[in-house]
Amino acid sequence: MGPGPSDVYPEVLAAMARPTIGHLDPAFVEFMDGLNERLKYAFQTKNTVTLPISAPGSAGMECCLVNLLEAGDKIVIAINGVFGMRMLENVRRCGAEPVTVEFEWGAPVDPNRVEDVLKKHPDAKALAFVHSETSTGVRSDAESLCQLAQKYGCLSIVDAVTTLGGIELQVDGWGIDAIYSGTQKCLSAPPGLSPVSFSEAAMAKIRSRSTPPQSWFLDMNLLTGYWGPGAKRAYHHTAPINSLYALDEALRILQDEGLDNAWARHAANHQKLREGLQAIGLEFYVAADYRLPQLNAVKVPDGVDEAAVRGFLLNEFNLEIGAGLGPLAGKIWRIGLMGASSTEKHVALCLEGMQAALA
Ligand SMILES: *Cc1c(COP(=O)(O)O)cnc(C)c1O
Repeated sequence: MGPGPSDVYPEVLAAMARPTIGHLDPAFVEFMDGLNERLKYAFQTKNTVTLPISAPGSAGMECCLVNLLEAGDKIVIAINGVFGMRMLENVRRCGAEPVTVEFEWGAPVDPNRVEDVLKKHPDAKALAFVHSETSTGVRSDAESLCQLAQKYGCLSIVDAVTTLGGIELQVDGWGIDAIYSGTQKCLSAPPGLSPVSFSEAAMAKIRSRSTPPQSWFLDMNLLTGYWGPGAKRAYHHTAPINSLYALDEALRILQDEGLDNAWARHAANHQKLREGLQAIGLEFYVAADYRLPQLNAVKVPDGVDEAAVRGFLLNEFNLEIGAGLGPLAGKIWRIGLMGASSTEKHVALCLEGMQAALA
C-alpha cells in the first residue's frame, strides 16, 4: 500500500508464466493487436499510435518529451511535485527551453497561473504537467489544462502514470496530445512497461521533425514500425513478451470490471480509509477537492516518528506504506489504494495497523 508497485493480480502473474514465443511470431502479432485495443479502451482514445514502451513510467515520460521536442523548442512545464521536476530535467537534456510554473507541494496546478504564462510565451510549443502527482497525492484539472494548451497552440503532454485505471481519464474527450502511464500503479501489473498514446497532431509533429530524437530506443518513428499501425511489423528491439502478457491480462481485468466501476471502487475505498483514519485522529494533507483516491497523503501527527510507524507496519503487519518526499519528507505518509490494492480488506488492515502503531 505504498506509492506503487501495487499488489499484482494472481491472474496477471499466471499470464506472465506462459511460454515465451517470438516477437514476430504471427500469434504474437495478433496478440499485440488485442493489447493495443485494450490500451485504447483504458486511455479512452481512438489514437492509432497507442502502445506500451518496453521500460517503466519514466521511459514513457522521456519518450513523450524526446519525440515532441527539438533543441531550442520552448515548453511550459507546471511543477507541483517530484514528477514535474523529473519532466524539467528531461526537457533540459533535450536541449529544449523550459518555462516553469511552480506550485506548492500538496496544491494542484492552477490553470489561471498557467494561462498567464502561456500568454507571455506565445512561441511555446507544448504544455506538460502531471495529472496525478504521486509524490503529494494531488489531482490537477487535466481537462482545463488541455483546453488551455489548445487555445494557445501548444501540444499537451500529460503524466498519467498513477491516473490510469484509478480516476477518470479521457484522452480524446480532453484533447490530450501525448500521454504516458505505467503498469505498477492502478493497473496492478508488474513494473517495467509504460503505455503511451499520441494524437494525430502529435504524430504530425514527430513525423516532420528536422532532426531525429536523440534517443534511438524511444524514437516513435521507429517504434511504430514494429507496433504499427500497418500490417508490416519489423524488428526494432526484442519485445518483453512475458511482461506484455501480464499487461494484457491486467487490461482484460480492467475491461471486465469496466472503467466506471474501477473509478467508483477507488473512490469508495478512499472514503472508507478516510473515515477510518479520521476516527483515529489522523488528518489528510491535501484539500478534499484535489485528493487522489489512489494515493492518500496523511499528516504525521506532532511527536510521532514517521519512520518508526512504517517500520512497525512492515514488521508487524507485513504492510508497506510510503514516506513523504522532498519538502514533505517526515511530514506525511503516502498510503496507496491502487488497482488490486484498492479493496475493503486492504483498508481494514491498514486501519488496524495504524491504530496499533500509534498506540
Ligand atoms: C511512478 C511514477 C512515475 C515513474 O514511473 P516509474 O515506473 O517509476 O519509472 C512517473 N510519474 C508519476 C506520476 C509516477 O507516479
